Formats: sequence, structure tokens, C-alpha cells
Amino acid sequence: MTQLTVTLSDDQHYQMTGDVHDLSIRQTFNEQQPNHFGAPTATIEPLEVDGFVGDVASGGSCNASRITMVPHCNGTHTECVGHLTKDFLAVDELCPALPVAAQLITIDISNRKQIGAEALAQSWSINPHVSALVIRTTPNLNSKQYRRYGAEDTAFFTPDAVALIVSQNIDHLLIDLPSLDPYHDDGKLAAHRVFFGLPAADTQAVVSVSESTRAHATLTEMIFVPKTIPDDLYLLNLQVAPFAIDGAPSRPLLWALETT
Ligand SMILES: [Zn+2]
Repeated sequence: MTQLTVTLSDDQHYQMTGDVHDLSIRQTFNEQQPNHFGAPTATIEPLEVDGFVGDVASGGSCNASRITMVPHCNGTHTECVGHLTKDFLAVDELCPALPVAAQLITIDISNRKQIGAEALAQSWSINPHVSALVIRTTPNLNSKQYRRYGAEDTAFFTPDAVALIVSQNIDHLLIDLPSLDPYHDDGKLAAHRVFFGLPAADTQAVVSVSESTRAHATLTEMIFVPKTIPDDLYLLNLQVAPFAIDGAPSRPLLWALETT
């Protein structure tokens, strides 16, 4: 294996161990999959055009499928401020091509639905040299990989918790909840607005990308972090589908590090 060494600061030197952890929920079209906001299921069907059917089992010469999905609701996806603006911004142009230093932390939400700044601060030993933060919530049931989220029991982050994250210059945030914001919040998306550096929602203003102070930032939702991966420092390789869209299916990979 090619050896890569990482220096985060004068006294933080690491090398890769070769362990790579995939934080994405694999999309199994037509089958069990996570779901947010009551969106239709992500589906796949054979292409049918001019008498051709894209299904070998049905007599076609090859398999060629047509997929239908809502990236924001059907599974692991990465989005940018373009999710909230009247003008267009594509997320695939914002994901870092090179790996970035990331910290994985865990927050217990067994007794709470809302994650505020205090709960976040208790679980986060801040490392000022990382630009990505990965947050795993517990209980961390395997059923997160196909959970249908509802208005009653979906956890979320408060705007002040997100303000703490922004204050630490976190440009890439990854969470295992379906959204930073509550399932229903009258369209305010207050936590999203803090993360992307937009004016507060109570102005009810329709906003443009140019009003964002954090148009470089990305937010990844509906990841799944297996129990076996310890809270630690990693390199994040944030892979996103090359779709010209504000939020696209993604595959965040964490590369494990060890101190040298
Ligand atoms: Zn989203």
C-alpha cells in the first residue's frame, strides 16, 4: 500500500492504517431503503424504447435501467447552499477532490430529540485542525439503514448547535439523521441556514447564493456509521455522484489513521 503521512499540526502526525470505512447507505432500489418526508421510494425499472426492453431476463439484448429517486429523501446524500436558494448551485463542484481531516464523534440521543449546543459540546473534544465533522447518534440501530422517518420521532440539531459547528470552521458536516432541521418547522430550515451562512429564516426572504457566507460548505445527511468504528481522527474522502444538482447521492469514506 502507498504510505501517506498526514500532519495536522506541529505535534499531530499520522499515517494511514489502510482501513477504510464506508459511511453510505447502499441504495437498493425498489427494496428496503431509508425514507424522509414521505417521499416516493427510489425505484428502478428496465428501459423500454422502440420495442427494446433493457432486461435480459425479459428477452432484451442487455440490461439498461431507468432510476427514479429523490436524493434528499431516499438515502445518503450531500447537499450545498443551492438546496435553499432561488439560483442554482451544484454540490458536485464543491466536494473536495482531495481527502480532508475529519473527526468522528458520538452523541447519545436516547433521552432527547433535539441536539443543542450544550449536548454537542459535551460530546465533542474540539480539534481545531479538522475541517470535517462526522456525527453519529446513539442508539445506533442497524434499522437506520431502512428507517422511514416520521414527524414525531425524528431528531434534529438546534441552530445554536450548528452555530458552534460553524464557529469551529467545519466546512463539511456529516450526520446520520435525515435532516439538520426538525421534520416540520414551517419551512424555516433554521439550522440549515446557519450552516450555510444565510440570513435567518424569519425574514421569510427568498435568498440567493451570493447572500451565503459559506457557499463552499457541504452537508451530508443520512449516513450510517457502524458501531465498530471508534470516535477518532480520520481522513474523509467525500465522493459524490457527478450530478449537476443541489443535493446528490454520495459515498463518504473514512480512512483510518494512526499516530506516528
Ligand atoms: Zn438534504
